[in-house]
Amino acid sequence: MIEVTGLRNQFGSLVVHDNLDLQVRRGEILAVVGGSGSGKSVLLRSIIGLHRPSAGSVRLNGIDMLSADDSARQAVEQNIGVLFQKGALYSSLDVIENVMLPLREHSDLDERSIRDLAMSKLALVGLRTDVANTTVQSLSGGMIKRVALARALILEPQILFLDEPTAGLDPVGANAFDDLLLTIQRALGLTVFLVTHDLDSLYKVSDRIAVLAEKRVLVVDTPERVANFDEPWIQSYFQGPRGRAAQVSQQQEKEHGN
Ligand code: ADP
Ligand code: MG
Repeated sequence: MIEVTGLRNQFGSLVVHDNLDLQVRRGEILAVVGGSGSGKSVLLRSIIGLHRPSAGSVRLNGIDMLSADDSARQAVEQNIGVLFQKGALYSSLDVIENVMLPLREHSDLDERSIRDLAMSKLALVGLRTDVANTTVQSLSGGMIKRVALARALILEPQILFLDEPTAGLDPVGANAFDDLLLTIQRALGLTVFLVTHDLDSLYKVSDRIAVLAEKRVLVVDTPERVANFDEPWIQSYFQGPRGRAAQVSQQQEKEHGN
């Protein structure tokens, strides 16, 4: 579904990615981890076309995004939903207007239909209808992420990109968001590209994990295999106290049939 080949990204003398390869399979949740500043967000932005790479190719659903003509690229872009770091909602618009926005821009549906579709997406992400006409400022952190997810899903994309969606949430809110993401991914058969620091999320939701280090994808494999990969940064991340705790708690959840 996503195929990144020979990607290079450079800002002045700073080389962020060099000959990076990554493939994301249809219907999987692929999590991307790596140190702060390792280039996770730049990778996401390169794939969705918000950043033009210095070299390499990005194919989405078989379409080469860097050489496709405008109409082919736009068709693919409408098949992508994105949840940015911090949600990126417009504070000048109320909740439902934020969710409606992509449909206003990309469809010629009438106002009533757009509103109905937006309401159904709010329900999908577990928000009550009375949230629709409140201001963005009145929302909790967890609700902002849900509204942003509803907006990301409004065009009914096949691929969903999320950049640190549980950052800033308390553990209960983060866990609830992970459950929601899993439910929606399964129900809609989405392919998910998830950037996260959250070790609990990693074990809970990811089918495979890609580790970004040394300007490329060092390893991409199942959580169990990646956690045992013999490399210093990976070992300190996954086998440190927090990594171990997340692994144990996920095993316990599985044993209790959850
Ligand atoms: P992270 O893995 O924390 O998401 P980023 O992908 O945001 O890291 O950034 C990777 C590196 O690229 C950082 O050193 C960042 O400062 C740099 N960088 C990102 N975007 C730009 C930009 N537009 N101009 C210059 N440097 C940038
Ligand atoms: Mg980032």
